[in-house]
Amino acid sequence: MTYGSALPSQTQRGGSWLLGDAGGDIFTPERITPEHRLIAQTAQEFMDGEVLPQLDRLEQKDWALARAIVRRCGELGLLGPNAPEEFGGLALDKASSLLIVDQVARSASFASTYGAQANLCILPLVLFGTDAQKQTYLPRLIAGEIVGAYALSESGSGSDALASRTRAVKHADGAWRLTGEKMWITNGGFADVIIVFAKVDGEQFTAFIVEKAFPGVSTGPEEHKMGLHGSSTTSILLQDAVVPAGNVLGEVGRGHKVALNTLNYGRFSLGAMCTGGARSALGDAARYAAERRQFGQPIASFGAIRHKLGEMTARVYACESLMYRTAGLIDAVLEGGAKDGASTAKAFEEYAIEASIAKVAGSETLDFVLDENIQIHGGNGYVKDYAAERHYRDARVNRIFEGTNEINRLLIPGMLVRRGLKGDLPLVAAARALQDELVSPAPAGRASSDARLAEEATGVAALKKAALAVLGTAMQTYGERLTDEQEILSYCADMLIDVYAAESALLRAQAALASRHAHADLHEATARIVVHDAAQRVEMAARSACAAMAEGDMLRTLLAALRRLFKLPAMNTVALRRRLADATVAHGRYILGT
Ligand SMILES: Cc1cc2nc3c(=O)[nH]c(=O)nc-3n(C[C@H](O)[C@H](O)[C@H](O)COP(=O)(O)OP(=O)(O)OC[C@H]3O[C@@H](n4cnc5c(N)ncnc54)[C@H](O)[C@@H]3O)c2cc1C
Repeated sequence: MTYGSALPSQTQRGGSWLLGDAGGDIFTPERITPEHRLIAQTAQEFMDGEVLPQLDRLEQKDWALARAIVRRCGELGLLGPNAPEEFGGLALDKASSLLIVDQVARSASFASTYGAQANLCILPLVLFGTDAQKQTYLPRLIAGEIVGAYALSESGSGSDALASRTRAVKHADGAWRLTGEKMWITNGGFADVIIVFAKVDGEQFTAFIVEKAFPGVSTGPEEHKMGLHGSSTTSILLQDAVVPAGNVLGEVGRGHKVALNTLNYGRFSLGAMCTGGARSALGDAARYAAERRQFGQPIASFGAIRHKLGEMTARVYACESLMYRTAGLIDAVLEGGAKDGASTAKAFEEYAIEASIAKVAGSETLDFVLDENIQIHGGNGYVKDYAAERHYRDARVNRIFEGTNEINRLLIPGMLVRRGLKGDLPLVAAARALQDELVSPAPAGRASSDARLAEEATGVAALKKAALAVLGTAMQTYGERLTDEQEILSYCADMLIDVYAAESALLRAQAALASRHAHADLHEATARIVVHDAAQRVEMAARSACAAMAEGDMLRTLLAALRRLFKLPAMNTVALRRRLADATVAHGRYILGT
């Protein structure tokens, strides 16, 4: 399937949005096509009819039922949006994948099962499998006849995943023997095929396709988790496990490529799941607030509750905007070239920065929304009669798996700097030019205030400059030692996340205004809140980072430059949030999305 005219016309390098004017041509939820709606509807009906009514049984760990649901999901084509048609996939664009996981996210437990199958098992086979491996495994995985898993983590190597102690040794018959124990493996209790990472001769990190039925492979007991009780998590034991010679995935010693490229996409998809979960919970919160009465009126009429609902709506909007923008960026690259595994992996790698942003922004937005959802539910939020407490427990792990948010925060500026130093992005030149400009500034060129969102456009341009100035100063101050300065990198990541989210929201709202979208006014109000609040956070982060990097005259110069940048006028975001809250409550759901 293609976007047709919905696809942004130009491809852009990952991370290049920091350095220039992105233009208005980004992909947004408002540009989805009837074909997109059809796949979203299929996913919605599947979730409504076959998953949500079965949640209790899934939570009782009825894995036969879980398998049957995976099978049904495969029959509907929902497991293969990213797989080629010749192996039973649908070869859809990333917006379609996004719409599918948006629905799947309504059950976090099933979303985990789904993610392990579609993103962590099917996808590495698509990206790195040989034709024979694809023929053997993909059709049955995509049809849901067999279940997949991905085993990277071990008790001693989680974030430091390449420090795996699982060993692979080649025997005279050509087959491999794998020995070790993998921890916390999603779908572990009922998976048939597992992508396992091990070190050949204790040194060369390598991916293997391991069947549960191979001699020496077994499963540990179910973990007792805080949430996701309807998702299986076990260890996978490999005791001299016999793996055929042909089951190396990718090349010996290149397992990191398989692991990292899989995670590049996995993070994007997890961000989309989190955004979908947040949207759905926002609807729950709005409906409850409309029904629940205290002091003789619905709690939705109280300013404190309206503030929460308005803020939840704005954060969901920002997250959704950056997710769709990223989907469009990936698809713009994939549309132009071949869709073989190598090209697809390259496209995912190109937007690895945006994928990490999606993961962090999505998981933290979800946790914020679910926490406020409990608060709006009051005591009912804390007991099991309502779904709010389950959602809250289920979501917490999103900040831990697929790379913890701390690790992703280090990666975001780290990848940008590496690209800059390699010459892939003109980051260094841009940072230098900006320093000159900030030391002897031209008169501040403010956009005319009669154009709608003009102040916000100026504000986003200033946020980019602030983030670039701090990153440039950090590069100059620390050079290669910047990787050791985790607090500075984390401040940079926070700024970059806010910049990408704010610009995505702004461009989307501008597009809604330009096309006279039915809810254009609400889009505008939301973008104003998002940009305004991002500016406050970015200013704080920039000042804190500068104070940690510089002192004396240098610090004074930096702070003066920042003061010149942050000139967004004060805004009545209270009134704007009330408008958003009232619209969400009136419709009983988030209304700005698809
Ligand atoms: C429910 C569930 C399902 C999972 N499913 C899978 C699966 O299917 N397959 C799989 O392979 N794994 C899976 N995992 C494992 C998961 O990916 C790891 O838990 C995660 O990568 C973190 O590793 P860790 O738990 O060892 O934490 P650690 O790496 O020990 O981290 C602990 C803390 O230290 C921080 N930290 C670590 N290193 C650094 C550093 N260099 N700098 C700064 N801070 C650092 C972390 O951010 C974190 O806050 C799952 C885990 C859970 C809970």
